[in-house]
Amino acid sequence: MTLSAAIGVDLGGTNLKIAVVERTGRVREGIACETDTSQGPDRTIRQIVSEIDSLLARTSLKRSDLIGIGVGTPGPINIKEGRVIHAANLPGWRDVPLRDRLHDEFRCPTTLENDGNAAAFGEYWALSDGASAGDDLAMLTLGTGLGAGVVLAGRLLHGHFDNAAEFGHTIVVVNGLQCACGQRGCLEQYASASAVARRVVAEIKDGETSELSRDVKAGKSIDSEAVVASARAGDALCLRIWDEACLYLAVACINIQHAYNPARIVLGGGMSSAGSFLLDRVQTRLDEHKWSLHDDLPAITLSALGSDAGVIGAAALAWQAAGS
Ligand SMILES: [Zn+2]
Repeated sequence: MTLSAAIGVDLGGTNLKIAVVERTGRVREGIACETDTSQGPDRTIRQIVSEIDSLLARTSLKRSDLIGIGVGTPGPINIKEGRVIHAANLPGWRDVPLRDRLHDEFRCPTTLENDGNAAAFGEYWALSDGASAGDDLAMLTLGTGLGAGVVLAGRLLHGHFDNAAEFGHTIVVVNGLQCACGQRGCLEQYASASAVARRVVAEIKDGETSELSRDVKAGKSIDSEAVVASARAGDALCLRIWDEACLYLAVACINIQHAYNPARIVLGGGMSSAGSFLLDRVQTRLDEHKWSLHDDLPAITLSALGSDAGVIGAAALAWQAAGS
């Protein structure tokens, strides 16, 4: 006899992750591959279908064993209609009925969710005991962009237009750096992994010196890991940009605490691999700027699931939809 299982899909512009996840949260089998964006949505959807089928074969499951499929995707999305409205990192993805396409294929309940929300729900699921609603939680995923999600009383917060908790696009600098979303000064432009690297490169091109100067002048690409390594080694420019990102994140945490008052704010995504070099600096800045009217503040923690938060969270949403 095979236990029933849910499928989690974490669809990104670069990477596609799919996993067979049990009710307990255990990942029975998973795959990670490059997203095939070469010919638009149809090709990518066929890739998802084919990878799910191969995962089912490897775990001796049939399509009929699935209790559901959960998909985390770049947004914005229309949750009621299960459509991806516009995924900027997925060429050609405009108004794609992804939920129904997968439902028609597998004939099981399918849930579509914003990728930041799915990751937040994954962290929530990992921390709760499954029997009752866990603590309210907010999450920031610090990667190519800055995704986010909020779980209140065991449910993801969606808002009237399905775009709640888009903290990456809260404005932190009036008339600041241009964001791909059309606004200026978004948090994503100062405190995502890509932004940290991009800002260091821009400063070097403007004449600042850094141990990364030679790489930049040689045309090598710089990522946030390189910035962190140089900052740890005492490079003044990298340390300044990293500290500024931590300050903006502390400000975001304070604003989140005033808006939603969660028990915990989780930092995930690529930047969180810096560990205490991120967490301690955010906490220090938060302590410098927090209000003094109340002592109870959210715990700021690093992601428990790391880069699997999105795929596990997507599967958790399928389990939740199934009433488990
Ligand atoms: Zn923006």
